[in-house]
Amino acid sequence: MTNETEAPELLPCPFCGGAAQHTSRSNSGDHSWFQNDVDHWIFCETANCYVHVGMCETREEAVDAWNTRITIAELTTTKPKKGETP
Ligand SMILES: [Zn+2]
Repeated sequence: MTNETEAPELLPCPFCGGAAQHTSRSNSGDHSWFQNDVDHWIFCETANCYVHVGMCETREEAVDAWNTRITIAELTTTKPKKGETP
């Protein structure tokens, strides 16, 4: 088991700047939309924002997903999208 007290730092929410929090839940099998035995995800604590990353298998994966950011410059750089011919 990972040591829950050694939490990697979470970046603030990219939309509202609010605090982010890790959570996880064990799946009893009656929720087919959960992907793993235990799902981890990170969400924004701000009411009416509640941005979150997808379910991850480990806390580290969820934190990585949350902390991965793309810059506006990268977003606006023209590159072919999936299924599009350049
Ligand atoms: Zn937020």
